Amino acid sequence: MMATFLVLRNKAKMPILGLGTWKVNSPPGKVTDAVKTAIDVGYRHIDCAHVYQNETEVGEAIQEKIKANVVKREDLFIVSKLWCTYHEKSLVKSACQKTLSDLKLDYLDLYLIHWPTGFKAGQDLFPLDDKGNVVPSDTSFVDTWTAMEELVDIGLVKAIGVSNFNHLQIEQLLSKPGLKHEPAVNQIECHPYLTQEKLIEYCQSKGIVVTAYSPLGSPDRPWAKPEDPSLLNDPRIQAIAEKHQKTAAQVLIRFHIQRKVIVIPKSVTPSRISENFQVFDFNLTDEEMSTILSFNRDFRVCSLVNAASHKDYPFNIPY
Ligand code: NAP
Repeated sequence: MMATFLVLRNKAKMPILGLGTWKVNSPPGKVTDAVKTAIDVGYRHIDCAHVYQNETEVGEAIQEKIKANVVKREDLFIVSKLWCTYHEKSLVKSACQKTLSDLKLDYLDLYLIHWPTGFKAGQDLFPLDDKGNVVPSDTSFVDTWTAMEELVDIGLVKAIGVSNFNHLQIEQLLSKPGLKHEPAVNQIECHPYLTQEKLIEYCQSKGIVVTAYSPLGSPDRPWAKPEDPSLLNDPRIQAIAEKHQKTAAQVLIRFHIQRKVIVIPKSVTPSRISENFQVFDFNLTDEEMSTILSFNRDFRVCSLVNAASHKDYPFNIPY
C-alpha cells in the first residue's frame, strides 16, 4: 500500500487525502456533522478557509473528537487560508488568530494565501464596484508573504503556502530578497478536465507539494450551468471505475494519489465521506492514468471571474 501522506519541506507529514469544507455554511450543524463523520472514518486532514464562513462549526467537530479521545491534535492536519481582504501586512496576524479562535486551535498545520489577488480591506469579503468587479487593494503578495513568514516564526502555523498561484507568481516568491520560508504547498484546481501537468511538474521540481481542489468537478458550485461537462457522469471515468469495482468518485480521487498530489474532496453525506476514503485498496494502471490525463480540456470551475482584471489575476497565462 502506498504512503497515505506526503512530506512537506518542514518535514511534516501531510495526509494525502483530506476533507473539503467549502459551500457548507448552512444549515448550521451540517459541516460539524461532516467533520465528525470524517474523523470517525479515518480522515486526519481537514481543508478550511475563513471565507467559507463555517470555521466555528468545523472547530466544534474537531474539539469534540479531541475531547472524546477519538483523535489527538497532533494526529490531525488542519489547513486554513488567508482571505483576499487581509493581504495588508498589518492584517495577516489578526486574520490568522481569528481563524485559530474559530477553529478552537492554538496552531495550524498549514496556512495558505487563498488567492494571489488582494482585495480592498473591510467587512465585505467580496468588495465590488458598481460594474460588479472586485475592488483591489494596492498590496503585493510578496509583502503579504513576509507577514506569513512571521506566523511561522511566532508559532501560530507550522507551514505556509499558497493557493491559485501560477508558476510566475511562485517564481516571484522564490526570488524574494531575504526569503525565510519557501512555500510548502500550492493548492490548485485539478481534475481530469484540468490536469495541470505543467504547473504540477513545476511545483514538484521546486519541492512544493500540490493539493488538488474540486477533484470531483465541484458539482455543487453555485454557478454551475446545466451544459457544463460533468466528471462524475463521464462514461469514460465510469468505465474505468467499473473495471475496478469502484465508483467514479473513487477513481477521480485515486487519480491524484498516484500523481503524488494531495486531494480534498468535499462531502456532507456520510456514505460519500466514507466512500471517498476507500481509495487505498486499488491501483489505476499506467495506461488508465494516461487515458485520464488525455481528458484534459482546460475547464476551470473556479476562475474568480470578477477579479479577472486584477493586476495579480493568476489565470491570464497558460500555467
Ligand atoms: P468537489 O469536492 O469536487 O465536489 C463536491 C461535490 O461532490 C458536492 O456536491 C458533493 O455532494 C459531491 N460528492 C462528494 N462525494 C461524492 C461521491 N462519492 N459521489 C457523488 N457525489 C459526491 O468540490 P469542491 O468543494 O469545490 O472542492 C473540494 C474542496 O476543495 C472544497 O470543499 C474546499 O475545501 C477546497 N477548495 C479550495 C479552493 C481554493 O480556492 N483554494 C477552491 C475550491 C475548493 P455532497 O456534499 O452533497 O455529498
